[in-house]
Amino acid sequence: MSLTVTEVVDLGPNLRQIRLGGEDMIGFRFAPGQDLMLRLPLADGELVSRRYTIRRADLESGQADLNVVMHGDGPAARWARGARRGELLPEVVGPRGKITLDLGAEWHLFLGDETYIPGTLAMLDALPPKASAQAILEVSTAADEQPFEAAPGVRLQWLRRADDPPGGAARLLREIRAWQAPSGRGHVYIAAEVRVALTLRDELVGRGLSRDQISAKGYWSRGRANARRGEPDDPT
Ligand SMILES: Cc1cc2nc3c(=O)[nH]c(=O)nc-3n(C[C@H](O)[C@H](O)[C@H](O)COP(=O)(O)OP(=O)(O)OC[C@H]3O[C@@H](n4cnc5c(N)ncnc54)[C@H](O)[C@@H]3O)c2cc1C
Repeated sequence: MSLTVTEVVDLGPNLRQIRLGGEDMIGFRFAPGQDLMLRLPLADGELVSRRYTIRRADLESGQADLNVVMHGDGPAARWARGARRGELLPEVVGPRGKITLDLGAEWHLFLGDETYIPGTLAMLDALPPKASAQAILEVSTAADEQPFEAAPGVRLQWLRRADDPPGGAARLLREIRAWQAPSGRGHVYIAAEVRVALTLRDELVGRGLSRDQISAKGYWSRGRANARRGEPDDPT
C-alpha cells in the first residue's frame, strides 16, 4: 500500500501515535493483533522493514493508528521523530503477524512492554463482552500509561520501570510468579524484548502451561538493531 501520514499525536513522553491513511487501505482486512510493515529508507538508499501493530483502524475511511515507542535511535525511531502530516510512505505491507485472539480460550493473559500496548489494547477491544482477561504491561513512567475503558471481566495493570533501562525481565517475571492461573484452558500472548519474551514463555511452561497455550514474540532486541526484515535476529 501507499499511505500518507494524516495525524501525529504524542500519547506520552515515549509513545507517539501516527495515523496512516489512503485509498489503498479502504476495505483492508486485518485481525486485531496484526501489524503493518513499513519499508523505510536508510541513508544508503536501501530499504529496511520495521513492523508496527495496528492499534485501531477505520476501514471505511481507510485509516489506521500505529503507536510507536520513541526509544532513541534506529531507522523507525528516527522516522517517527520527524513524521509530519502529508508525508508519503510509498511501501507499507500488511496485514502481517500470526498472533491474534484465540477465541476458544476461556481466559486471556497479555504480557509485554510498551511495544505491546497497541497489540494488547486492540485485542482487548475485540474480546467478546463477557470475556475474562488480564493484561500486564511494563512502561517507563506513569505518563506513558494509556487510558482504557476495560470491560468488567478485564483487568489492565501497568508496571513502571522508572529509571531502569527497558528490556529486563524482572518485573514481569515477578508478576508471573505471583499469578494464579484461572480455571479452564486459557491463552497467553507475549510480546517484548526478545529474551524477555522467551524467559516469560519458559516460566509459564514451567508452571504447567502447554506451548500451544502461549504465543510469544520478540519485538526488539536489547542493544541490537532488528534485522532488515523487521524482526530481531535469533538471540541464541
Ligand atoms: C510483529 C511486530 C510488531 C511490532 N509492533 C510494535 C508497535 O506496535 N509499537 C512499537 O513501538 N514497536 C513495535 N515493534 C517493535 C519495533 O518494530 C522495534 O522496536 C524496532 O526495533 C524499532 O526499529 P528502529 O529502527 O527504531 O530500531 P532498530 O534499528 O531495530 O534498533 C536500534 C536500537 O534501538 C534499540 N531499540 C529498538 N526498539 C526498542 C525499544 N522498544 N525500546 C528500547 N530500545 C529499543 C535496539 O536495541 C537498538 O539498539 C514490533 C515488532 C514486531 C516484530
